[in-house]
Amino acid sequence: MVGGGALGASAAFHLRRLGVRDVVLLERDALASGSTSKSAGGIRTQFADELNVRIALRSLEEFERFEQLTGTGISFRQHGYLFLLDNDEDVATFRAALALQQSLGVQSRELTPAEAGTDIVTVSAEEHPRLRGAAMLVAALAFAAPVVA
Ligand SMILES: Cc1cc2nc3c(=O)[nH]c(=O)nc-3n(C[C@H](O)[C@H](O)[C@H](O)COP(=O)(O)OP(=O)(O)OC[C@H]3O[C@@H](n4cnc5c(N)ncnc54)[C@H](O)[C@@H]3O)c2cc1C
Repeated sequence: MVGGGALGASAAFHLRRLGVRDVVLLERDALASGSTSKSAGGIRTQFADELNVRIALRSLEEFERFEQLTGTGISFRQHGYLFLLDNDEDVATFRAALALQQSLGVQSRELTPAEAGTDIVTVSAEEHPRLRGAAMLVAALAFAAPVVA
């Protein structure tokens, strides 16, 4: 395996779990020194194409049992992911993606600006008069510490 970022390390880990004995991970710098260490650690299943949604759902299962699998905690927290939309075109695009996500079992739903402000974060329609709607994934969204993971 060339590259000790999230992808190379994950591939090496899973090859070993599948019983492959001679797995070598080559890293030119330090493990997680590339994009992986820059990541904000956001994990979401809100995507606009089926393959990405399916991969994300599968990945989420792994994150949920990461500590159990590896013995390492990664500050995994599922607290939701809110997109704020301020034009009708984006709302239409997100609604189409939302329908796809829901058909694949993602627990996303659309919130009005008022709902987002009341229930989720300090966002109000008065403060942000251009808000048209907000699509939010309620459960299947999370954060994990990328370097530790
Ligand atoms: C600012 C920022 C925020 C992000 N936030 C998120 C987020 O919230 N959620 C999310 O899912 N994704 C996020 N990402 C994207 C995510 O970080 C990357 O998709 C992911 O880390 C890519 O992993 P990787 O293993 O492919 O690449 P990298 O982590 O870049 O790993 C590649 C590794 O290969 C090594 N390498 C390269 N060439 C060679 C060579 N010839 N020989 C040996 N080693 C070599 C490099 O040194 C490096 O360590 C973010 C990215 C950035 C930059």
